[in-house]
Amino acid sequence: MKVLVANLGSTSFKYRLYDLPSETQLARGGIDRIGMAASACFVEINGQKQESTLPVADHAAAVGMCLEQLTHPQHGCLKSVEEVAAIGFKAVFAGNMSGVRVVTDELLKKMEDLSDIAPAHNPMYAKAMRQLRSAFPKLPLVAALETGFHETIPPENRLYAIPYEWSEEFEIKRWGYHGASHRYLNTRMVQLLGRGDLKVITCHLGGSNSLCAARDGKSQATSMGMSPQTGLLHNNRVGDFDPYALPILLRKTGRTLEQLLEDLSSKGGLLGLSGVSQDARDVEEAAAKGNARAQLALDVFVASIRQYLGAYLTVLGGADAIVFSAGIGENSSLIRAAVCKNMEWAGIELDLAKNSSLPRGSESRISTDSSRVQVWVVPTNEELVVARQTVEAIGKK
Ligand code: ADP
Repeated sequence: MKVLVANLGSTSFKYRLYDLPSETQLARGGIDRIGMAASACFVEINGQKQESTLPVADHAAAVGMCLEQLTHPQHGCLKSVEEVAAIGFKAVFAGNMSGVRVVTDELLKKMEDLSDIAPAHNPMYAKAMRQLRSAFPKLPLVAALETGFHETIPPENRLYAIPYEWSEEFEIKRWGYHGASHRYLNTRMVQLLGRGDLKVITCHLGGSNSLCAARDGKSQATSMGMSPQTGLLHNNRVGDFDPYALPILLRKTGRTLEQLLEDLSSKGGLLGLSGVSQDARDVEEAAAKGNARAQLALDVFVASIRQYLGAYLTVLGGADAIVFSAGIGENSSLIRAAVCKNMEWAGIELDLAKNSSLPRGSESRISTDSSRVQVWVVPTNEELVVARQTVEAIGKK
């Protein structure tokens, strides 16, 4: 069965085509600058990459183009569009409508109603899904919500101490995100360690960041809360923050609540603290050259990861493995070393030579042979999880 997995940005569309159950990736591609005069497109089928520049009006046109590429008589890998069983989306938030679902009007309305929680994603996904439903009415669309993996978090780790009815009535709780990534990493650790009864702390550190504690492959706690703006600091988003600071900011800056929320989610994080960049590579480089604010940003980032790590060792009663993944987790030996520093008391011993010599994109154990807790770097594969879940969802339907 062929499944297309779509990853949407406000002006971009990236995709991978999988064949399941073999899980073979047949093609990948992307279109950037959708809606502009010249959109940049690429497609890679059987290792052959082709690039072009042409105007692509909207996400439906982008999907149309992708399907043309995949069915191209010479370069394509499909005989016809009918071979595509469904399109799966790594959708973000629809409150109680979590898990994996075939896209319906009710789901789209819920995503739109809850746009405040994921303003960069929900409106855009809902709009693109609406376009796709009218352009390709026979093609099932499936939303794999990022909150799905965290449905197993018990109430004591999930509830805010607000009037209880608010949690029920307004769905205000720690939902957790990056579900596809944490799910993939946990499944992969079962394969790598050869057993399922594992206590694993996964660290997804990239543009946005979260830690997750899982027992037997089931999420028990995660650092992102009601919104993906919370928990650890992010590239330009604030992370955990006290809402009681808002009245002061409202009075002193003269900005509106909407403007301040936008500031906190675009001028905070590594960017806000360092004043240098939202990209961890730039911040590391500036810190190495002696920029004190850049060093401070890294220190705050590492300290917050270590606080959650300590908490999750307690939640799980120790850990079998700690896993680093995503752009920073897979590539920054500096951050990994700083997170694991002086953790021998908890059975965590990094092999510094292995940590610093890891080839890009590799999957490897970076703890010493005697380390009680194994430390791994595992490249995440969120698209594969969405492809698997899409097959499950259309199977159920
Ligand atoms: P997202 O998909 O959330 O945008 P990624 O998982 O691709 O994010 O991570 C992107 C981030 O990874 C970049 O912003 C950059 O800060 C970080 N990154 C990539 N390579 C390195 C590196 N070699 N060292 C440190 N950070 C890196």
